[in-house]
Amino acid sequence: MDYTAPTALLKDKIILVTGAGDGIGRVAALTYASYGATVVLLGRTTTKLESVYDEIIASGAPEPGIAPMDLATATPDEIQKLAEVMEEQYGRLDGLLHNAAILGDRVPVEHYDINTWMKVMQVNLHAVFLLTRIFMPLLRQSSSASLLFSSSGVGATPRAYWGAYSVSKYALEGLAKLLMEELENASHIRVNILNPGGTRTSMRATAYPNEDPATLKAPEDLMPLYLYLMGDDSEHIKGETLQG
Ligand code: NDP
Repeated sequence: MDYTAPTALLKDKIILVTGAGDGIGRVAALTYASYGATVVLLGRTTTKLESVYDEIIASGAPEPGIAPMDLATATPDEIQKLAEVMEEQYGRLDGLLHNAAILGDRVPVEHYDINTWMKVMQVNLHAVFLLTRIFMPLLRQSSSASLLFSSSGVGATPRAYWGAYSVSKYALEGLAKLLMEELENASHIRVNILNPGGTRTSMRATAYPNEDPATLKAPEDLMPLYLYLMGDDSEHIKGETLQG
């Protein structure tokens, strides 16, 4: 995307990024912070979150929050507690980047490992519902909030052998579209879907082990789009699906 963000695009914004320790989420968190946001880093590996935290502090950006949480096992109570802490600390939420996801297996449905199926659906879909549901009151406190759902080409159109990942992203798009309709009249909350497209991360390397990573775009290349959708320059963009 051809977009140059103003340096203070996200000044004073409170943004929660899931899967902020690695891959696209890590770069998005660093980028949002560098444009002035206070970012809350949610992820399952605390050491990775700490290193993103350290990078943000070293850059002089606003101090981020750290929310270690395994979305495969997080209970509604745990998520509610996080929302309460954030309400106390910040009073609102201006952006939520649903980014964390797992790939699962790529085998026919009839051979798909049942526990893996459940886990993929939990992380990629149910946790997204829980976070959205529980953080909605905080999003409503924002004067201009952006809710972003990370999908995939195999979410828009299910692809054979991509199993729960494909189904979870298909359903995620359904959830996002439902919300788009329900929030149509909530003029200050916008919901969009973004599909980063093939990007050089460990998930992509696992999905396509024979691919040369050098042929792929880096997470950094996606940041104009991620910034645009998170900042108020996209205030009028609602209910869209954008491709990276
Ligand atoms: P990565 O696997 O590189 O990063 C995923 C992040 O999510 C990691 O930080 C990971 O934590 C975190 N995460 C995974 N499981 C959990 C969990 N149970 N609880 C909390 N955090 C968790 O993925 P990408 O950066 O490639 O993908 C980001 C998003 O973009 C995903 O939604 C993906 O589906 C989508 N996407 C990516 C494409 C690509 O080509 N890369 C293409 C299309 C869509 P940890 O590091 O600790 O494992």
